[in-house]
Amino acid sequence: MVKYIYKEFKSVLNKLKFPDSWFWSRYTLNTYSGCAHACIYCDARSERYYIENFENEVIIKTDFDKKLDQRLKRARSLLPDVIAPGGVNDAYQPIEKKIEHTRKVFQIIAKHKYPINIATKSKLVTRDLDILKKIANDTWCTVGFSISTINEELAKFLEPYSSTPTERLEALKTIKREGSEIQVGTYFIPIIPFLADDDENLENVFKQSKDAGADFVLFSPGLTMRDSQAVYFVKKLKQSKYNHVVKPLLELYKGQMHPPSQYVRKLHLKLLKLSEKYKLSVRVKRWIPSDYRKWNYKISELLLNKEYIDSLKTGKSNKTLMWAGLNLNNLEESILDVYKRDELHTLPNFNTKIIEIVEPILKKSKDLKQKTGLEKFL
Ligand code: SF4
Repeated sequence: MVKYIYKEFKSVLNKLKFPDSWFWSRYTLNTYSGCAHACIYCDARSERYYIENFENEVIIKTDFDKKLDQRLKRARSLLPDVIAPGGVNDAYQPIEKKIEHTRKVFQIIAKHKYPINIATKSKLVTRDLDILKKIANDTWCTVGFSISTINEELAKFLEPYSSTPTERLEALKTIKREGSEIQVGTYFIPIIPFLADDDENLENVFKQSKDAGADFVLFSPGLTMRDSQAVYFVKKLKQSKYNHVVKPLLELYKGQMHPPSQYVRKLHLKLLKLSEKYKLSVRVKRWIPSDYRKWNYKISELLLNKEYIDSLKTGKSNKTLMWAGLNLNNLEESILDVYKRDELHTLPNFNTKIIEIVEPILKKSKDLKQKTGLEKFL
C-alpha cells in the first residue's frame, strides 16, 4: 500500500548548466518525489538519489503550480526553454489520475509558453492532450513513452504498476492521431541484457513504435547497475522465473556499473540498422527559439547529433565536437554575429574541422542579412 504525503518544497525548477542532448531539456521539475510505478530496475533506488522508500511513500509537492507560476512570472534571468518533468519519478504515476497535480503544473507551463518534453510509462498522459496541444501550437511539445520490452509478461515483472506496453503504444497512437503537432516516440531505455536485448524484442519495439506513428526511437543498450539499485534488481531476479539470467548478467558486468563497450557497440549497430529499416529518427527533433539563440541551437543540434551518430557508427566519441555543441548553447549572442566578425575560431572548442562543418551552413542562412545584436541600433 503506497503512502501519500503532502509536503512543502521551496524549489520548483532546476536549470541545467547545459541542455540535455537526448531530451533537449534545459529545465527539470519534479511534481512528485518517489514513484509508485516501482519498476524493479529503477535507478532511484541507488544511493546517489537518497530517496528513501521511494516506491512506498510518494510525496506530493504542495502548491507546486502556484510556486511555478510565481517563479516563471519573476523570471528575469530565465529564457523560455524545454522543461522535462520527472527525473526519478513519473509525472503520470497512478495518484495523478485522482488529484490532477501534474495537470495543474502543465497548465502553468502552457500559460508561460515554455516547451516541454515528457517521458512516461502511463497512458494517462492522453488525458492532458488539450494542454499538450496548446503547448505544441505555442512552442513545442514532445511525448516519449519508455518501453523496454513488448513482452507483456516480462513488462509486468519489470514494471508492475505502469500501463502495459500495448497501452503505451495505444496512447502514442492516440496522441499522433489527435495531436499531430506533438512530436511522439519511444524511449527504448533501458535495454536489459539477457531479458530484452534479443533480436525479436529489438525488432518488435521498432516495428510497433513505427506502426503506432512514432517519430523517433531513442535507445540505450544495457542497464545501469549501481549499488543498492543493483542489489535490489538482482534480488528480484533471483526470486523470479527469470533467475537464470542472474549468472550471465553478473558475468557480463563484472562488478562494473555499465556493460562492456563491445556489448554496447554490438547492440548500437543492430539498433542503428533497425532505425534505418523503419525510418525512425534516433534523436528527438529540437525546439528552436526565435530569439538570438535560434542559430546557436540549430548549429548545436547539428554538432551534437553528428557526434552521437558518428559515435554509434565508429564506437568512438569526439569530445571536442561534443563540447563545441554544448558550449554553443550558452553563447550570449547569435553565432551569426560571431561569423560576420570572422571570429568563429574564438568560440570554445571550435577548431578548423568544426568550422568547416558550420561555416557553409551559416553562409547560406537567410537570417545572415538581418541586422542582429548592436547592429540594429546603428
Ligand atoms: S516509472 Fe521511471 S521513475 Fe518510476 S519507478 Fe519506473 S523507472 Fe523509476
